[in-house]
Amino acid sequence: MPNRHVDAVVLGGGTMGSAVAWELGKRGRSAIVFEQFQHVHTLGAHGGDTRVFRHAYAESPDYVPLVRRADALWVALEEESGQRILERCGGLELSAPGYVHTRAARLSADEHGIPYEWLTPDEGRARWPQIAIPDDWDVLYSPVAGFLRTEPALRSMMAGATSRGVELRQHEPVTTWGADDACAWVETPSGRFTADRLYISAGPWVARALAQLGLPLHVRRKTLWWLGVEDPGAFAPDRFPVFISDAGQGENYGFPVIDEFGLKTADHSGGDHCDPDTVDRETTHAEAERLIRAIRELFPLVNGDVRRSAVCMYAMTPDSHFIMDRHPDHQNVIIGGGFSGHGFKFAPAVGEFLVELGENPDARPIPILAIDRLMAPA
Ligand SMILES: Cc1cc2nc3c(=O)[nH]c(=O)nc-3n(C[C@H](O)[C@H](O)[C@H](O)COP(=O)(O)OP(=O)(O)OC[C@H]3O[C@@H](n4cnc5c(N)ncnc54)[C@H](O)[C@@H]3O)c2cc1C
Repeated sequence: MPNRHVDAVVLGGGTMGSAVAWELGKRGRSAIVFEQFQHVHTLGAHGGDTRVFRHAYAESPDYVPLVRRADALWVALEEESGQRILERCGGLELSAPGYVHTRAARLSADEHGIPYEWLTPDEGRARWPQIAIPDDWDVLYSPVAGFLRTEPALRSMMAGATSRGVELRQHEPVTTWGADDACAWVETPSGRFTADRLYISAGPWVARALAQLGLPLHVRRKTLWWLGVEDPGAFAPDRFPVFISDAGQGENYGFPVIDEFGLKTADHSGGDHCDPDTVDRETTHAEAERLIRAIRELFPLVNGDVRRSAVCMYAMTPDSHFIMDRHPDHQNVIIGGGFSGHGFKFAPAVGEFLVELGENPDARPIPILAIDRLMAPA
């Protein structure tokens, strides 16, 4: 098969690959996205229906400009697609004494003028009687937070790309890639494709795609749970926010009830190291017990009924900050990876940022997301 040359190829058509594709489409670029599975699946980092969206960013205030840009782009995507993607039900951050998440979120909100309310536990319990907030916990409520619906988000971004001429090739893994000063190329079972630029957005498979760099990345197996609640109406999005609870039981987070499966919740901390191709996709009774025990302390109306569970993967960097940068050896290869379990909310802003890095030689990476921090000294 003869070579085909396009402006850009995208290795991985998951969350960030869809976002890159949307941005390339909006810029009128010719591009091909290669996805090893079908577009939108449960085998990588985007399964499980919903993702928390929040602006007061405990992980670092440096993410706030990116999430603000993402907010505007999610709204634009809803307008373009006619799909409902972002539900602004509000967000609650809770921390036990000695745990810093909520105070760090407040610092970043103060630095960037993000609206929030700092509540006493009494005020919190009065507003959400279904949450048993202990008397000595920190409580921050953010009215602009909420959650994203993953499937309409990814489908809308990819539709925004393909309707502008970007090609999506599903079930077509990239088996090898390379680059020189003139161009980048990928090979797949159906041939070789060259491009001015290659975007690598391989999610949990990113360490494999970048094996020659030997980056200190690893993948964590994460479980998701949907639990039955007494009085589901009390957990509807108009009465119940997304939450993050930082305490001895872990960093548990969850969502309002939006379907018959009940309250979706998970633990952001921990998780076994795994290989994305051989990860155990079955959840266990013992894992369910552990999570239910922790979550019931805050939500006594959660009953022991596990209605659904799933396994997903985090692509981790050592400092849990992303990689959004050019490849150190190839300026025409741009990397979006290591999203460490908190990347989804930023996706359209990540896509925009990566394409700008690819096309504008003056564009610079955000310092905490630069790849050189992870490179072993020469
Ligand atoms: C359980 C869980 C909960 C999370 N909760 C939140 C949250 O509440 N808020 C938030 O903001 N973020 C959250 N995240 C993180 C967020 O979902 C991820 O950061 C984001 O989805 C990562 O996107 P990605 O494009 O890197 O990976 P993916 O979406 O997995 O996409 C990578 C794609 O690359 C493809 N691929 C890989 N190698 C190849 C190849 N060689 N050829 C072709 N295709 C290839 C894969 O098949 C996959 O489709 C959560 C993640 C998990 C797992």
